Amino acid sequence: MKALVKLKAAAGLELIEVAKPSLKPYEVLIQVKKAAICGTDVHIYHWDKWASQTIKPPLIIGHEFFGIIAQLGTEVVGFTLGQRVSGEGHLSCGSCRNCRTDKRHLCIQTQGLGIHYPGAFAEYVVLPALNVIALPDSIPDDIAAILDPLGNAVHSACHFDISGQSLLITGAGPIGLMALLVAKQIGAYPIFMVDVNPERLLLAKKLGATETILSQHDNCKALMQAHHLEGFDHALEMSGQPQALQTLIEHVYPGAEIALLGILPKETMVNGLDLIFKSLTLKGIYGRVLFKTWYKMLTLLAEGLDPRAIITHHFKFSDYQQAFELAASGKAGKIILEW
Ligand code: NAD
Ligand code: ZN
Repeated sequence: MKALVKLKAAAGLELIEVAKPSLKPYEVLIQVKKAAICGTDVHIYHWDKWASQTIKPPLIIGHEFFGIIAQLGTEVVGFTLGQRVSGEGHLSCGSCRNCRTDKRHLCIQTQGLGIHYPGAFAEYVVLPALNVIALPDSIPDDIAAILDPLGNAVHSACHFDISGQSLLITGAGPIGLMALLVAKQIGAYPIFMVDVNPERLLLAKKLGATETILSQHDNCKALMQAHHLEGFDHALEMSGQPQALQTLIEHVYPGAEIALLGILPKETMVNGLDLIFKSLTLKGIYGRVLFKTWYKMLTLLAEGLDPRAIITHHFKFSDYQQAFELAASGKAGKIILEW
């Protein structure tokens, strides 16, 4: 089969022929139809410090995908050949303390699809049956390819009860925009969205953000006054920038709850006085809750959640170089590779 492989410990990816994977008894072989590019894939493509410390070439990368079941391991029950599926890319061990206490998403031995385990940028991918998610026909193929990041957005936006309350979101990247859609659907209002990129804010406005704020020209306080807001009840940090966390802390109401999905650098500083005297709750959000977030997401999709406006480009898998350069430029939303 054809696959996009990180062959050497250096920048780039190669499109090569590799052996079609074989199946263990509890695994499922999936023929990949569409796969989306994540920021993580771009880090691996460019071979930055994180990638060079984490990835062991040769490795097929990619973890956001949609496909159909091509073969079932001998012990797999509950799935059928040809069934439309996506999958959870965090492979948990099932036996550590966290796995055994309803915290599978925080498994201490998690293996990442396309990070530690052969990924989905290939004609076929193998997953343990536990990680395969059956999809109803009502979910369009394009949405089915981005359920992984949509799950991050659902996990972030639904962690605290934000319905009927004001929300500030920093970072209008694909996942921040998905969180905006989820927050609107579950009734947060007003929703202010901050970014440093005016194009991303235009999309945020189109998707229904109440106000958008270009962080360099901070007019947040004036807009808050116009909405009779002294502060925000909740906030979502979806940029991974320390400056954005500072923006959130400055603009939330005392007692606010803040969910942090963006991967902040380890040197990030927080003003301890703000934390204590504003009595803030900061919650780190990792991945998707297994498998509660998936069920919640499927329900929200059935009820009308539609993130397709966030998908801006489709490429044939063989045009991957162009797709990766565009992803790295920050000028696109979600990019899908067609397999
Ligand atoms: P992205 O990089 O495409 O989007 C980030 C956005 O933040 C961009 O639009 C950028 O312009 C904006 N930004 C930059 N500086 C800013 C600032 N000072 N204030 C406000 N906005 C600013 O990322 P994405 O794919 O949407 O993912 C969002 C974040 O979530 C990333 O940090 C990613 O690494 C992280 N992530 C975390 C998990 C997890 O499990 N915790 C999973 C997936 C992604
Ligand atoms: Zn475990």
